Formats: sequence, structure tokens, C-alpha cells
Amino acid sequence: MKKRVLITGAAGFLGSHLVDRFLDEGYLVIGMDNFITGSTDNLSHLSGNPNFDFIEHDVTEHIDIKGNLDYILHFASPASPIDYLKIPIQTLKVGSLGTHNCLGLALAKKATILIASTSEVYGDPLVHPQSEDYYGNVNAVGPRGVYDEAKRFQEAITMAYHTFHKVPVRIVRIFNTYGPRMRMNDGRVIPAFIGQCLRKENLTVFGDGSQTRSFCYITDQVEGIYRLSQSNYSQPVNIGNPSEISILDFAKEILQLTSSNQEIVFEGLPKDDPLKRRPNIDLAKKLLGWEPKVLRTVGLQKTIDYFAGLPEEKWYQVEHKKFDDFIKK
Ligand code: NAD
Ligand code: UDP
Repeated sequence: MKKRVLITGAAGFLGSHLVDRFLDEGYLVIGMDNFITGSTDNLSHLSGNPNFDFIEHDVTEHIDIKGNLDYILHFASPASPIDYLKIPIQTLKVGSLGTHNCLGLALAKKATILIASTSEVYGDPLVHPQSEDYYGNVNAVGPRGVYDEAKRFQEAITMAYHTFHKVPVRIVRIFNTYGPRMRMNDGRVIPAFIGQCLRKENLTVFGDGSQTRSFCYITDQVEGIYRLSQSNYSQPVNIGNPSEISILDFAKEILQLTSSNQEIVFEGLPKDDPLKRRPNIDLAKKLLGWEPKVLRTVGLQKTIDYFAGLPEEKWYQVEHKKFDDFIKK
């Protein structure tokens, strides 16, 4: 009998790649999404696949699934700072109410649930690199608080369902991940810089560009998440690439890779933008035998090729309709 998995956020960047991976592993996959930041384009290659079903649904509302479920992967949530600043209440609701619904479903179906947490639970970290035992430095009432605190609540309620109801849980703390199927206009630095190169615009570095990030290619991230889903470890695990770079050097790297000669212009650093970020992945190495394999230049080239291959109007698209309609409500 094939195992059955529900993946929320299935029309998004990470969710759609996880759908592909679980199908490849022989699962029956149900994707769920309300398309607020995701797109049908990310799932169009699966049309007619008998092992894949899709339900359009907002996970902050009660979730009803007929039949058995072995796994739930809860990935629904805006993930880009620009997105969650535009839809702050929806972001808080999907992390809290949406997670509660997924946990209730896991309990009812006796399923294992894996939730997508984030390096943002460490906030603007005072410990570097960040390991799982660091409690973080988050400003609850700052602009990023809606995302960071939703994710911290998500971890807390997940652990409560584990200790109180004995639901098998997995918690992945995802560090900046990139690759094909990101939205060109979602504001995250990689699509932003690549889009600016394609449109021949100047690259916008926020602050002086000395803040750092550590970028993980999608295939490495999916491998880490898959292995965690198959483990029996119920505490948080960092999955990310420890190769760290300043945003200014990163802008120069993108200019070089795209053979562009635009200028770098400096804009204000958004409030509470973390100054440093690099995962300590010792736990993932020990527990899952996992470490990233894709060099940043290799992953970036694949990502650049993906964006360059999109119809040109997508390079200029500001929002997609669902997002626009939602904001106007
Ligand atoms: P994404 O915006 O591409 O995907 C999120 C998906 O969730 C979208 O398809 C969106 O429509 C859907 N969604 C949002 N609210 C929903 C709701 N209420 N009901 C149903 N669907 C809803 O973002 P992503 O980068 O793929 O991120 C996926 C998950 O991974 C998120 O939980 C995010 O917090 C987490 N994460 C991602 C990164 C990263 O670098 N990509 C880093 C840390 C954590
Ligand atoms: N950033 C930038 N220019 C942009 C977009 C982002 O300099 O056009 C910076 C941003 O301030 C942050 C880093 O790039 O320091 C990564 O931003 P992103 O939104 O991708 O993710 P974050 O890690 O902040 O959630």
C-alpha cells in the first residue's frame, strides 16, 4: 500500500519541490494551497498524474481530508519579508491557526507531521553560527515579529502536541533556500538581484551590504527535509548551507555570473534585518548523515537560467492577482 502525504503550501517554492520528491519516493501526494503567494505554474507539470491530488483551501480554516494519512508536511506560509509585511495578520494566522489545524489532523489520522520552521526563530542572532540550542533574539513587536513569532508559536504548539498527545513531530529550521520556482517579484534577495540583472536595472543592496546570509540550493534542502521526515527525531533541526557571504559580495557575485555591468546602489536597511546568519549543521550531519553538496555558483547558475527562461512579462510582473486581491480586501 502506498503511503499518503498531505503537503500544505504545495503551490509554493519549497512545497512544490517536496511534492515532486514525495511522488518520486512512491507516495500518494495531496497538495493543498490557497495560492496567496504560490502559483499553479509550480504544479502544472503534474496535471494528469494519478498519484497527485490537489485541494484549493486556506489552512487557517478547518481541514477535511477523506481517508488515511501517513504524513503531513506543513509548509503553507508567506516566507518573504515583503510578503509577510503586506499580509501580517494572514501570516500570524497561518503559523498559529493553520498549524493548529494541521496538528489536529495529524492527531486524528495518527500521522507524522513535519513543520517548516525557520532561521528567523533566532531573530537578529547574538550567537554565531546558530545552533539549535540558541534561543534567539527576536523583536516581537517589530515588523518581522509577525513571521518570527508565528513560527516560534508554531514550534511551541507542535511540541505541545508531541508531549501531550504523543503526535510524532519533526521540526525543520530552514535557512535561506533558493532555486527555480521562486517568485521573481517576492522581494527575496536572490530573485530580486537576478531580476534586476535581467531587466538591466541597478542592484539594490540594503544597508552597507555587510550583513551576511548563507544560501542553500533547493535540492540540498529537499534532501535534508526528506531525511528528517524519515527519522524519529522530534526536536528542531537546522537545514541550510553554512557557506556565508555578505550581501555586497553576493551582489558582485550575481553581476559576475550574469555578465552584467549595472551599478550597485545602496538603500536603507529594513528594521530588524538580521546582521548575520549561518547555520550550525552539526546535528543534521550526525543525525541524518546530511550536508549540502551544491556549490553556490552552481545553484545560482541553474536559478539564473530558470528566471532567464521565463516569459519576459514575468520579469516585470509586480504581483500576481490573488495576492493583489487579498491585499485590497
Ligand atoms: P512560498 O511563498 O513560495 O510558498 C508558500 C506557499 O504557502 C504558497 O504557495 C502560498 O500560497 C501558501 N499559503 C500561504 N498561506 C496559506 C494558507 N493560509 N492556506 C494555504 N496555503 C497557504 O514560500 P516558500 O519559500 O516555499 O516557503 C515555504 C515554507 O518554508 C514556509 O512555511 C516558510 O516559512 C518556510 N521557510 C522557507 C525558507 C526559504 O528560504 N525559502 C526559509 C525558512 C522557512
Ligand atoms: N536585500 C538586499 N536587497 C534586496 C533584497 C534583499 O540587500 O533587493 C538584503 C536584505 O536586507 C537581507 C538579505 O538581502 O539582508 C536577505 O534578504 P531576504 O529578503 O532574501 O531574506 P531574509 O534572510 O532577510 O529573510
